[in-house]
Amino acid sequence: MIAVVGGGLIGASIAFELAQAGADVLVLDAGKRGAAWQAGAGMLTPTGERLHGTPLGDLAARSLSLWPDFARRLAQASGLAVPFRGGIEHVNSPGLRPSDPAALSPHEATTHPPTIVRAALHGLDVRRAEVLRLEQVPGGVRLVTDAGPLTAARVVLAAGAWSGRFGLPVFPVRGQAALLAAAPVPARYSTKARGFPLYGLPRPDGVYLGATVRPHCWDTAARAQDARWLGAAAPLLWPELELPQPAQMLVGLRPCTADGQPIVRRLSEDGRVWAATGHGRHGALLAPLTAQQVAQELL
Ligand SMILES: Cc1cc2nc3c(=O)[nH]c(=O)nc-3n(C[C@H](O)[C@H](O)[C@H](O)COP(=O)(O)OP(=O)(O)OC[C@H]3O[C@@H](n4cnc5c(N)ncnc54)[C@H](O)[C@@H]3O)c2cc1C
Repeated sequence: MIAVVGGGLIGASIAFELAQAGADVLVLDAGKRGAAWQAGAGMLTPTGERLHGTPLGDLAARSLSLWPDFARRLAQASGLAVPFRGGIEHVNSPGLRPSDPAALSPHEATTHPPTIVRAALHGLDVRRAEVLRLEQVPGGVRLVTDAGPLTAARVVLAAGAWSGRFGLPVFPVRGQAALLAAAPVPARYSTKARGFPLYGLPRPDGVYLGATVRPHCWDTAARAQDARWLGAAAPLLWPELELPQPAQMLVGLRPCTADGQPIVRRLSEDGRVWAATGHGRHGALLAPLTAQQVAQELL
């Protein structure tokens, strides 16, 4: 049995690929408040995130190309309507307005992280447990959890911002976003919006608008200051629309690393323990590629 520690965007995607390939998988999730997948936007935009030409650029492009098939297979396996919509408008390109055809990036897309996680975990053995530590034992790995111990042949650590518990150099970057009760709008991205990159998209739960950026902050309560910034931001993205004030705040902890690179590698020499974490603000974008890579290594 392969145990996946953490059933967020990365752990759930890996568990899905392993199960699709016929592996016996167990997902352990602690149900942490502030899990990034619960607050993540679902923008799949290497352009907006300025990843082209960076060390992540190639991974991002490859993962984006896997997304249509990944979304289709998630929908097929789960029976859920998995949101995946092509097209993002970049509203800060010099000399361009959102309505100019050149501002549209048709190959980029949006999705809905909570539905991705739900679809990926559909039909899998998922248990609520916090993994406290790992112990190497003959023939496997012992997981000591708050719900008792268990032994697995192999383990994937995908504990998001909480990965430091396992000695991994990951820290939280808090993000606050807003949901507006409004009719669907075009997905847009602006890097020139007073402080933080600003983006918004239509989702099944409303119009999403995000997001603030606070490194090394574990606070999962919504902040009034962030809410004010978000409330003032909607007209910057959709100046032609009258949108209501935010109806709900979302707060999540992005799992970040000092060099901005995800940690996807074996941790033990025998290859029984793997890490897949540190995806920062790109976990939705990079999920299909990370899942494919880890599944190929473990199977
Ligand atoms: C506001 C915001 C906006 C974002 N927007 C985007 C976006 O538009 N595009 C994009 O690509 N990415 C975006 N992201 C980033 C993306 O959400 C993350 O990169 C991604 O969720 C990371 O996935 P993960 O599985 O590593 O961590 P998480 O999604 O945080 O999941 C980790 C899981 O591990 C569990 N866990 C933790 N410790 C333990 C333990 N000891 N035992 C068992 N379980 C444990 C937690 O309960 C949690 O469910 C955004 C994030 C935020 C916060």
